[in-house]
Amino acid sequence: ATTPGRTPREVATHCPYCALQCGMTLRADDAGVTVHPRQFPTNRGGLCQKGWTAAELLDHPERLTTPLVRDLVTGALQPASWDTALDRVVAGIRAVQHDAGRDAVAVFGGGGLTNEKAYALGKFARIGLRTRHIDYNGRFCMSSAAAAGMRAFGIDRGLPFPLADLGRADTLLLVGANPAETMPPLVRWLTEQRRNGGKLIVIDPRVTATARQADLHLQPLPGTDLAVANALLHIALTEGWVDRAYVADRTTGFDAVRRGVAAWWPARAEQLSGVPVADLEATARALGTGGRVIILTARGAEQHAKGVDTVTAYVNLALALGLPGRDGSGYGCLTGQGNGQGGREHGQKADQLPGYRKIDDPAAREHVAGVWGVPADDLPGPGVPAYQLLDSLGTPGGPRAMLVFGSNPVVSAPRAARIEGRLRDLDLLVVADLMLSETAALADVVLPTAQWAEEDGTMTNLEGRVLRRRALRPPPPGVRTDLAIISDLAARLAATEATDADPAGVRPAAVAAARFPADPATVFAELRRASAGGAADYAGISWDRIDADDGVYWPCPTEDGPDTPRLFADRFATPDGRARFHPVDHRPAAEQVCATYPLHFTTGRVLAQYQSGTQTRRVAALRRAAPEAFVELHPDLAARLGIDDGDPVRVTSRRGEFRAPARLSAGIRPDTVFAPFHYAGAGRANSVTNDAVDPISGMPEFKICAVRVEKA
Ligand code: SF4
Repeated sequence: ATTPGRTPREVATHCPYCALQCGMTLRADDAGVTVHPRQFPTNRGGLCQKGWTAAELLDHPERLTTPLVRDLVTGALQPASWDTALDRVVAGIRAVQHDAGRDAVAVFGGGGLTNEKAYALGKFARIGLRTRHIDYNGRFCMSSAAAAGMRAFGIDRGLPFPLADLGRADTLLLVGANPAETMPPLVRWLTEQRRNGGKLIVIDPRVTATARQADLHLQPLPGTDLAVANALLHIALTEGWVDRAYVADRTTGFDAVRRGVAAWWPARAEQLSGVPVADLEATARALGTGGRVIILTARGAEQHAKGVDTVTAYVNLALALGLPGRDGSGYGCLTGQGNGQGGREHGQKADQLPGYRKIDDPAAREHVAGVWGVPADDLPGPGVPAYQLLDSLGTPGGPRAMLVFGSNPVVSAPRAARIEGRLRDLDLLVVADLMLSETAALADVVLPTAQWAEEDGTMTNLEGRVLRRRALRPPPPGVRTDLAIISDLAARLAATEATDADPAGVRPAAVAAARFPADPATVFAELRRASAGGAADYAGISWDRIDADDGVYWPCPTEDGPDTPRLFADRFATPDGRARFHPVDHRPAAEQVCATYPLHFTTGRVLAQYQSGTQTRRVAALRRAAPEAFVELHPDLAARLGIDDGDPVRVTSRRGEFRAPARLSAGIRPDTVFAPFHYAGAGRANSVTNDAVDPISGMPEFKICAVRVEKA
């Protein structure tokens, strides 16, 4: 709350949660901090329940306001001074690296961190710790769409066009996307689209809040979206709806795709997916003859061990119909996390450097090393994707220490009990967060961090539009920003006696020379230089320009040149300017149903909760709205299992179990059960999910595994 009698203050900023990054005004007066919707091009004055209640966390009684250090005798977390906590972290890092080498320390970031933090964290891992092991929870979000976009278009930007284009589409196809619950203000664009006479088609195994609004809902078996896409392209080819001139002029590789989809007769796709041929034909017709057509994927299509290929199948369809780059048309991915887009552009990923550069590209290493003031040879090579990293913790040859910023893998990782065990096996776990998350509760050192209303910075929304987060007030006493924590840790490492340094680990002089400022404006200025010339080029983006223009779309190479709301109008970001088709074929889910585990299980989100729930499970109104996990079952299945609505049920897979009340719904297939993944403890849905990963993106298969369900 604000000090009584203080002058009321307000700032224009953005919601702390999802990638829509709705505009909001924060106001502080004697009554406390309040949220007010703000007209912004993406949300147009709308906010969802989560945004409306976001200020409640600022003065929440559970908020961390002092570092915590685990007592070596009692084993309990105890309040400690910042000096004590940071000294413990640095001593732990040095001990582990001395014993086991520099890669024995890992860093795990988050898709909610600002661009400045994502950048600083990547730099800190590579220069401060000299470890190759950094990755982030965005791997669990949109990495399959990112990889598919890279290989087809040569660039990965969630939406390559402004969100407003959705309102103008004659046909809009949503695949595995439920924005009515995940980002409700986006539904205004869907409403506008249908008011303009457009057709909305949804592909989802459940009758979601979004599917209920659709003109046509295709309800496939989870894991068969790829076959559906290939069948749609098969029909488009048969009917002559493929844009031959576009394919010839702007793409390569179509023949192999054409040959591949020839085998995907609609009847074959129906047999596999359960989607009637008539619905496949109606969808193909709407896409092939629809004028302005947009195809969007989200987690339902992407969170599979074949997620990259599934997205690629929809990209192939879009390219064959000549959509990408055409006015009002295209393919896009609805990125989920607040800075899921920016978080993957500035070096938080195991294989990337700032500017969306590849870490194994010699020219990229030279450029970034130059900005950081170190020889390119000093930069570590690529690490491993998030799940592989988490699963290697504490194992022979794996990292023995990890620093976690803004992530809660104990709840959000697949096969979560196994990952929880890995975290417990570490010699040193450090977690920077605003609440004692389930992951923080396991830590040796917990560092309390500032919240979104207490620090400046930039976020990049699902359109690739760079936005300003603005501080309403400073962090409370005892709390530091993530940038200040990184800066403090770097300063301590730089002050280490050079003679003391393990040759394999920290190099104090290099850390000192590289500089780790705590001021976000200074970090952003450096980020601009580091990204210059890369795919995600921020060189021309200044905070003033963001203020003046309601955000700036990357790439934006020069301050006086234009930004790029629409990509691909003339060429794709490939060496020859052409988009690439890739033939992809259906393959079964990594785990099949059987007599012991006869049901398909899939996970997702509910409106009132966000990601692992560290924040939203602590907001009173959201807790009331969605207090606990549930297991959604078709009434026919429930009757067969002797389960009534509200009965406690146990869901068991080969990896574990969770319990939650049954919720009967005729909107789910009788062979499939669903649960939201936001919850911890007995209701943790990720206790059963499969840790099979996509071979290209590293995305785990959250969306399908085999389970049995019984009354608990
Ligand atoms: Fe907007 Fe997403 Fe925040 Fe809801 S959670 S207010 S949709 S940014």
